[in-house]
Amino acid sequence: MSVWSQIVANYATSPKAPKSPPRTQRELTEKKCTGCGVVKPIAEFYARVDHAPGLTISKCKPCYNAVQQRRREQMKKGAKNWVDRVIARNNAAPAKFEWPADEA
Ligand SMILES: [Zn+2]
Repeated sequence: MSVWSQIVANYATSPKAPKSPPRTQRELTEKKCTGCGVVKPIAEFYARVDHAPGLTISKCKPCYNAVQQRRREQMKKGAKNWVDRVIARNNAAPAKFEWPADEA
């Protein structure tokens, strides 16, 4: 028995060894939305691009779209506030500049 196969055998019987490969949501056919709480087919959820393939985001498509819509409106509101502030600042009386008086 080689050292390597001994290591593998020890690891396989150690309590730290995973019992089964990690489960992905690819095996799921439906899941519960954290937004509306309704159990929906997995096709009703967008895939996560930043995580393991097969994972989907926790909100169903309508809930996620609603969140995105709210976010867009907040961004728009924020941008409008910013523009309003800039306009107000530019309309405020400009700082007066005067040449210093000549010393006689
Ligand atoms: Zn939902």
